[in-house]
Amino acid sequence: MHVCAMSRRNIPGLTWSVFSRLTGVNRLGRRQHEIKRDLCTQEPLDLKEFFMRHLTARIKANGPLSIAEYMKEVLTNPVTGYYIKNEVFGESGDFITSPEINQMFGELIGIWCVHEWQQMGKPDKLQIVELGPGKGTLAADMMRVFSQFKEFNKAISLHLVEVSPKMRQFQLEALTGATTPEDTVVESQRSKYGPEVHWHRFLDQVPNECSCVIAHEFFDILPIYKFQKKDGEWHEILVDIQEGGGLRFIMSRGPTTNAKAFLTHLAETDERDHVEVSPESGIIVQKISQRVSDHGGRALIIDYGHEGTKKDTFRAFKAHKLYDPLEMPGSADLTADVDFAYFKHCCGENVKTFGPVTQNNFLNGMGIGARLQALMQDKDVETRRAMMKSVWRLMHPQQMGWGFKFFAIAPKDTDYVPPGFIPITAHNEPKSEQKSEPK
Ligand code: SAH
Repeated sequence: MHVCAMSRRNIPGLTWSVFSRLTGVNRLGRRQHEIKRDLCTQEPLDLKEFFMRHLTARIKANGPLSIAEYMKEVLTNPVTGYYIKNEVFGESGDFITSPEINQMFGELIGIWCVHEWQQMGKPDKLQIVELGPGKGTLAADMMRVFSQFKEFNKAISLHLVEVSPKMRQFQLEALTGATTPEDTVVESQRSKYGPEVHWHRFLDQVPNECSCVIAHEFFDILPIYKFQKKDGEWHEILVDIQEGGGLRFIMSRGPTTNAKAFLTHLAETDERDHVEVSPESGIIVQKISQRVSDHGGRALIIDYGHEGTKKDTFRAFKAHKLYDPLEMPGSADLTADVDFAYFKHCCGENVKTFGPVTQNNFLNGMGIGARLQALMQDKDVETRRAMMKSVWRLMHPQQMGWGFKFFAIAPKDTDYVPPGFIPITAHNEPKSEQKSEPK
């Protein structure tokens, strides 16, 4: 698709056809390829300016947007959404994720899956399902591990749930070595590790079979709603137009329908006056739990998050720096902490949950120390140093070690604690005073 080949920060001018494509209002009734041609032939317009104009038009037409509508529009709008257009990952992108930092992260999660399959009694068929696989690095690192377990490798198929065609191409290349023209949609292909890979747009499209579902930094970008308590009542925080240009947060005059519908999980004792909730995440967690309960399997959810204690965590990342989430729509990542207490609530009574435990706890429990020693054995000093530094980034409390949490879902009759979820004793906890990087 030509649109993707254009430079990252610039897109063409806002024509009626672009507006139509984005809003679904197609006044001229023109076909999509004509609209794409328009996108490629108009004068360039800054992405931020484009989004500002588009969002302003929407707000003028329909009133202030919920934060969820704003996030959805900015992140996954099918033409100009952040995840649809941008090179988001890595040191040169806006953020870097654990699998991109060190291969051991994906390898240890792969070993966890193999262990759980053995505990399940080695079912003949197991679907490895990854939600929001990004560049496919975690999936590739897991698949490399799986290929060393012949029986397991024969039993599995890989199912990737991905909304972005651009990301799908990265995943295809990482897992099969193949590349395709930009507008080709590949649905299934054999991976270079043996098992078939299937791509899906939604979790519902993945066959209802025994599955091990992995979601790493997926739920933090799903749309949230924000609510503020005032005079004992929950009001909604919305996005409105700022006088003189730009966007601003406002508070609804009274409780909105969303405030009435989405806060029923809050305990009487909850003392917060500001709450974020992602019903879309809640529904996906419910669906995963239903699958695990009906067909067996496991789920491993990894994200930064809290247990129903944090208030305002909505933020933007651009070039590894924090920004106001309304400042540059479309060219910065938007994210909010995952509420694991809400996830537990959504899991219901038919499954067992484990955690959340810290990333440090999980990776320690999975033996990252021993794996590091093994990998470093025949390496030169420089490589060893780089490997130690990357493990330090994954593990240190002030890096990714404590903020990121692991949460697991298993069938109700699971009678053991999965590896990585046994809490490490205070004695073994990392010393938080070590702040500097390893030399
Ligand atoms: N798990 C990866 C990438 C995280 S970024 C990692 O840790 O490196 C989020 C990923 O989710 C991207 O691949 C993005 O395109 C995808 N995504 C965003 N919204 C989605 C949705 N609604 N459904 C499926 N995938 C989505």
